[in-house]
Amino acid sequence: MICDDARNLHFYLGTHRANWIATAPPGVSLFLSHRVLRKYKTLPTFYDWPVPTRRARRRHVAIDSGAFTELSLHHQFVTTPEEYVAALARYDEVIELDWAAPQDWMCEPWMLAKTGLTVAEHQRRTVENFLLLTELWPQVSDAECPVMPVIQGWTVDDYLACVALYEEYGVRLAEDYELVGVGSVCRRQGSAEIGDIFRTLAGLDLPLHGFGVKLAGLRRYGRYLVTADSMAWSYAGRRTPTQCGSTRHKSEANCQVFALNWRNHVEAVAAEAKREIGQPDQLDLFPTPARAAHQRASRPAKQAAAAHPGQDDQLDLFAAA
Ligand SMILES: [Zn+2]
Repeated sequence: MICDDARNLHFYLGTHRANWIATAPPGVSLFLSHRVLRKYKTLPTFYDWPVPTRRARRRHVAIDSGAFTELSLHHQFVTTPEEYVAALARYDEVIELDWAAPQDWMCEPWMLAKTGLTVAEHQRRTVENFLLLTELWPQVSDAECPVMPVIQGWTVDDYLACVALYEEYGVRLAEDYELVGVGSVCRRQGSAEIGDIFRTLAGLDLPLHGFGVKLAGLRRYGRYLVTADSMAWSYAGRRTPTQCGSTRHKSEANCQVFALNWRNHVEAVAAEAKREIGQPDQLDLFPTPARAAHQRASRPAKQAAAAHPGQDDQLDLFAAA
């Protein structure tokens, strides 16, 4: 599904603007929420090519289920798995999705406080939702199911327990999936633990997707990722008065020019990291028992970017630019 050079990190630019599917430059992959796309009766398309050539020139698009927002607002899902799968089939028919996130249950402590449930229960619901979505898919589409399994947890051991839970349910993450998401990481990008989590999971030979990466996170664990998404630029853009010359917006929160400039920063960090492939990862100087138990040879694809802990995140970078 993801036809990029396996050695490069394939980056999906997050946006609230569905029309970017049509208007962003060729080669820019997008990450859009179901909460945005569901409002469109007619979905934007990239090039209005005849159908036989559309596949070759299509826009790479991945879908966020909007799980974080739904759980934050309602402490449960109000979108049923049947509704979500039907919506995905509609998007896939027109846009041809790279992948879609499941309706997963985040394990941040403040999310557990909202639902009143345990990490183990969030993990069980996450795995069972993935299985249900993949089971429902053939009822709505003949195409390959785009739903990506997501590992949820908070500590390294939690994530390993979630991998084991998938195995118990008969899901072989490393063997059968092109991409496996790692949840509950967006809001702790600069922490040391996050690098340990990704290194441990990559050691299990899992092809990892990083949700909501920032440059600090990309430097720390980007080398373990196959794909990543982010709309960190938009949060920075909210606080940035218009600098692109447009008279149509007051801040850069939804500006494509601003977003593409930020994407260039991401590409530069990934390219810089790629030049350092083969050099030792300084974080490996501090092994943990969990990692030692699961350490295995990494796939070449995961050497896409190197870790440079302690450097400024993208907000600081942008402020300085
Ligand atoms: Zn602008």
